[in-house]
Formats: sequence, C-alpha cells, structure tokens
Amino acid sequence: MHFIETRGNDGQLPKKVSFSEAILSPISSFGGIYSPESLPELGQAFLKHHLDSNYKTLAHAVLTAFEIDVDADIISKALSLYDAFDDADSPVPVVKVFDDLYVSELWHGPTRAFKDMALQPFGVVLSSIAQNRNEQYLILTATSGDTGPAALETFKNKKNVQVACMYPDGGTSDVQRLQMVTEDAKNLKVIGVKGNFDDTQNALKHLLASKDFNATLKEKNIHLSAANSVNFGRIIFQTIYHIHSYLELVRQNAIEIGEKVYLNVPSGNFGNALGAYYAMKMGLPVEKILIASNKNNILTQLINTGIYDLRNSEVIATTSPAMDILKSSNIERILFDLFGTQRTKELMFQLDKEKYYQLTTSELKQIQSLFAADFCEDNEGKKYIKDAFAKGYLMDPHTATCFKTYETCRNTNNKKQLKSIIYSTAEWTKFSPVIANALTGEVDTHDLDALNAIAKEAGIKIPAIIKELFDKKITQTAIIEKDEIEKEILSFL
Ligand SMILES: *Cc1c(COP(=O)(O)O)cnc(C)c1O
Repeated sequence: MHFIETRGNDGQLPKKVSFSEAILSPISSFGGIYSPESLPELGQAFLKHHLDSNYKTLAHAVLTAFEIDVDADIISKALSLYDAFDDADSPVPVVKVFDDLYVSELWHGPTRAFKDMALQPFGVVLSSIAQNRNEQYLILTATSGDTGPAALETFKNKKNVQVACMYPDGGTSDVQRLQMVTEDAKNLKVIGVKGNFDDTQNALKHLLASKDFNATLKEKNIHLSAANSVNFGRIIFQTIYHIHSYLELVRQNAIEIGEKVYLNVPSGNFGNALGAYYAMKMGLPVEKILIASNKNNILTQLINTGIYDLRNSEVIATTSPAMDILKSSNIERILFDLFGTQRTKELMFQLDKEKYYQLTTSELKQIQSLFAADFCEDNEGKKYIKDAFAKGYLMDPHTATCFKTYETCRNTNNKKQLKSIIYSTAEWTKFSPVIANALTGEVDTHDLDALNAIAKEAGIKIPAIIKELFDKKITQTAIIEKDEIEKEILSFL
C-alpha cells in the first residue's frame, strides 16, 4: 500500500511514499498530509471469518490487509502491548448500557485514555523502523493532557527515539500532570510551559518548521518527527476497534452480520472518527457516523451547514478538554477522499488565508450521507453523566457528549431501531472533578478528593495505577517560559 499527498505534489517530495516513510515524516507537499492511495476491501466474508477472533488476531488481519512495509514480527510485537491492558483477552470491552445503546471502552490501557489504543503499538513500530534504518529520532509532542502521558508511556526506554513533551503548566488535571512528571526514563523530557495549550502547540509548530532548529538537530544526526494524529501510524490502529466493536455486538446477539449500526464518536482532531470512516469504506455495515463535539462546535457547523469558519472564534475551555479544538486536522483526509487533491488544496489554502471555507451543496450532501453531528454543552454533559450513573454506568465527560448525538442525530422513524455504539475515550479517573461534581454536586479542586468522592458514591476502588501516582517521585521538574523551550530541548539532547 502506498500513501499520497492530500494537497498534491510540489515536485520536490516523492509522489508516493511507503507506510514507514509516511510515519517518519508525516508532513507532505504544500503543508498537506499523507493519505492511503486505496483501502483494502474487507466485506462480509472477512467479518464472518473473524467472528470468533480475539482482538489481536483481528488486528493482525486488518493490518495485513493494508499491506504495509513493516515486518510481521514487528507487528506482532506491537500488538502484544494490548496484553498489558486490563484484560489481555478483551482489551476493548463493549458494554450494553440500555436498550439499543452500547459503549465501546477504549481506555483500558496504561494511561487510561483512548490514546493508548494507537500510541502503544505505534511506539514499537516507529522505534523498530528507526532501528532498522539506524537513525535517531526526536519526537515532539504538545499535549492538553492525554496524548502526552500516552506518548511518554509508549516511547520510554525505546531505542533510537527521544521524546520532548510540552504541557501547559496548570492546564491539565492532577492525574494527567502526575502521569507525565513522574516518568523517569532517560530518553524522555517533560516540559511545563507557562501558558495555555495553544502556546505549547504553537511552540511545537514553530520548532518543527524552524530551519535553525532542524539544522542543529542535523549536526547531532537527529531526525525530527511528531506523534500527533496527523501521523497515519496512529490512524491505522484506529480502524481496528471499530470492526472489533461491531463484531462484539454480533457476538452479544445484538445484531446479525450485515445489520447496520450507528457509530457515535466524541471528536476533536477527528482521528477516531476518521478510523470509523475508513472502517465503513472497507465494508463495515454502518448507517452513519455521529460526530459529537462540545461547545467548540466547529465540526457540528461543518457537517450541518458545510461551512468551516474560524473567524471570530476562539477555543473555549470546557469540561471535555481533549475536544477543545477548532483546527481539526484529520478533516483534511475526508475532504481529500471525497473531493480529491485539487479541491482539498483549494479549501485548505482558503482556510489558512481567510480562516474560512464553504462546501458546495452537493459536497455537503455527500458529507451528510456519511456523518451527522451535534454538540453537547457542559451542563448537558453533566446531566448525561448523572443519568447514566443512575442506570449503573459510570462515564467520563468526553463519552457523555455522545449521549447527545445518540438522542438527536439518529433517524428514529425506522420501524426497527438500529443499534448504536458510543466510543468511551477516557476512564472516570482522568477527569474526576467534573464527574464528582455531576454525581454529588461537590466542587473539588484536587483530583484525589474527587476520586475519593466518586469511589465512595459508586462503591468502587480507585485503581492502583492511578492511586500510586500521588506517591510517586516527581522526576521532571522543568517549568519554563515559552521562549526558553528550544534551549531546554537542546540541553536535554
Ligand atoms: C483525544 C481525545 C478525544 C478526541 O479524539 P480525536 O481523535 O482527536 O477526535 C476525545 N476524548 C478523549 C478523552 C481524548 O483523549
């Protein structure tokens, strides 16, 4: 399988690249990204064949169908990381919550958020490719809270890779911060930045593009890469759990093979939803993909009106911070897949220049045949958390946004109501103050108080992996001004 460029070719870069090249240098001509030239056709025979396959066997088969240039033993090693999830036999449990609503839990990995689903195996793949090429990589990440811990966890002590991870000081939850600042591997550097997430993200973009910084790295024989979700190495692992969740519904006798379902995805950078779209294109029977946002509702606006408008809009802080995003990077791959290179380049250039684009009526129709969207305000989310808890299901505020799309975006005129799969992207432990507030009304400023309150209310224990964080030694102490970041990273190298 080859990867081509969403904005066309500039005559400098190769016109097509392999999977490993696409993940080592994810940015293509004209600031575009790499997308698969074609997708494997899986179809119902594949689904039937894998009805009784466990997660790893299914994952292996999907990755094999993609025909990527990564050795089978590396893929096996990468997938073996799912063995360390809560239940090695079932790393992604699918739980019936009520009636026709099922929740697929993507957070049973080491950092308790869905980023582990892709970053765990991705770390092995990237490090193995770097070793085979005998090259050294510096991976930069900027995080609002979930990507950072997951990237550090996957790359710690890996050969040929160093990681510099920037987080906004004071902008993450206690648990998220502790997950980062207690990492002590020699190849990891964690940097608290005085500023907000946008400041760290801008610093990262600046460094990726900086000629001086790249030249300095070159002198040290280090290549620069990024682990955010424009990297296809993450997306490929995010097609698998959609197929798995569907098969799980078949196994639970909720549906028959071939029956369509709704996939409800809490979306920010659209990586999770893009995985759902590819799974659908590969033959998964999906009625529609429902896109949930929070008050940063740029995706709702795009899917409902065809307009992507960043003018006069600023990111609003919500109780689902991993979705506080206005520039949703993976939408570009949808535009490319539906409307082609020329149009994608045109729309993305217009967005860069005018902070705005508008799809044609027929383009919008195409989008709406695949997706429906709505957004969920913080107070609505709190109510969904409380209501689900009353029915026996404890969930986080990101997952809760999908209960809105479940209510408003399905076609309920059908005689037979189709089943819905909601993707749960974080464990309750990661956003405990919001959940404690939803359940008991109390206001906690420290995660530990909130965790204890929820544990008491729900009659459960705080998982050891979270509780231990509060006693661990803090090893990463750098908290610096924005303009000191480059110096800090260079002194680490
Ligand atoms: C990253 C994240 C999301 C958003 O996923 P995208 O793939 O960026 O759309 C949603 N919820 C949680 C908890 C996350 O960490």
